[in-house]
Amino acid sequence: MHTFLYTAQQARVVFGSDAWTVLKAEAGLLGARKVLVLCTARQRTLAQRAVDALGECAAGIFDQAVMHVPVAAVRDAQDAARTMQADCIVAIGGGSTIGLAKALAVENGLPILAVPSTYSGSEMTSIYGITENGIKKTGKGPRALPRTVIYDPSLTLKLPFAVSVVSGMNAIAHAAEGLYAKDGNPVLALMAEEGIRAMASGLRQLSPNTSSLAARSQCLYGAWLCGMALAGAGMALHHKLCHTVAGSFDLPHAQTHSIVLPHAIAYNAPAAPEAMQRIARALGQDGVCAAGALYDLAQSLGAPMGLQDIGMRDSDVDRAADIAIATPYWNPRPIERDGIRTLLQAAFEGQRPA
Ligand code: NAD
Repeated sequence: MHTFLYTAQQARVVFGSDAWTVLKAEAGLLGARKVLVLCTARQRTLAQRAVDALGECAAGIFDQAVMHVPVAAVRDAQDAARTMQADCIVAIGGGSTIGLAKALAVENGLPILAVPSTYSGSEMTSIYGITENGIKKTGKGPRALPRTVIYDPSLTLKLPFAVSVVSGMNAIAHAAEGLYAKDGNPVLALMAEEGIRAMASGLRQLSPNTSSLAARSQCLYGAWLCGMALAGAGMALHHKLCHTVAGSFDLPHAQTHSIVLPHAIAYNAPAAPEAMQRIARALGQDGVCAAGALYDLAQSLGAPMGLQDIGMRDSDVDRAADIAIATPYWNPRPIERDGIRTLLQAAFEGQRPA
């Protein structure tokens, strides 16, 4: 076994409990007396339930969390936190709400208690981003890492099937890249493989009309482990490409991840055979091509398969390739423009990787 470094995460995880029953006690463990609850406008009802559960510890709700954390939302949330004299942030929602909590905590140092309602995995990482003048700047720091995470599968029962699928594929992407990361290690690899297995198994049990608690528990458990893989290992081609493509052409985050993943994995396959074997095994397809297995999973779940289906234009492909190679970064296989251009074209058209 090669030498490696493993840094344990500090977050406390409460899995499977009814969030409203444990929320107040968990906030109390963080010393909270005045809790600011964050949510998106659509999830206000959920945030109100948190306020009810927190009782006298609730300071109020800020419901303006939106995708990609615009700097204006961070300023407004900061004003709300100051006015309410908040001493703790409870973020209820998906990656957008948790992202706002992180941006806030980086500035004001308040502890975050996250209650995720999607599978983004953001709650497990200390990575944060803020968008200003159309550019999303990302950073990493201990203040951004939620101190406590409550995973309550019942809160995800109503997450629409189509959103669940792409959010789950987004989580699988974290784990897939964790398996070949430069700073990966055997412990994270265990979590990554189990995360992919749990997420794929949970997603396969969902359908547009059924949403069982058992399946949702599998998905949320998978999201946790996949998030751990993202937190512990550096990102490579897939995440960099998605950041570039979604950011430059204003494409939806989780859908972009779902579409690009099989193609990025196909590109890296020759340079990371052990990771490919583990991905395929986790998908229940031992010995099969990992990229093809990921494509088939997404397609069987009805996910959008081509970037052209989510708003990218043919004329954007060349520009995307140029932007993708402009800033060098580590990847198991060297980043070459021709290969990246071919990858992007296949992702644009939604072809199954060869
Ligand atoms: P999101 O948080 O924007 O949620 C998508 C939509 O689903 C929103 O309209 C939301 O209100 C709704 N929703 C959420 N939960 C629901 C539920 N249970 N039932 C019904 N509707 C629900 O999207 P996301 O994919 O969770 O997160 C995307 C964002 O997270 C991006 O900005 C991305 O950059 C960020 N992200 C960050 C990290 C990190 O480690 N920093 C990791 C992954 C994603």
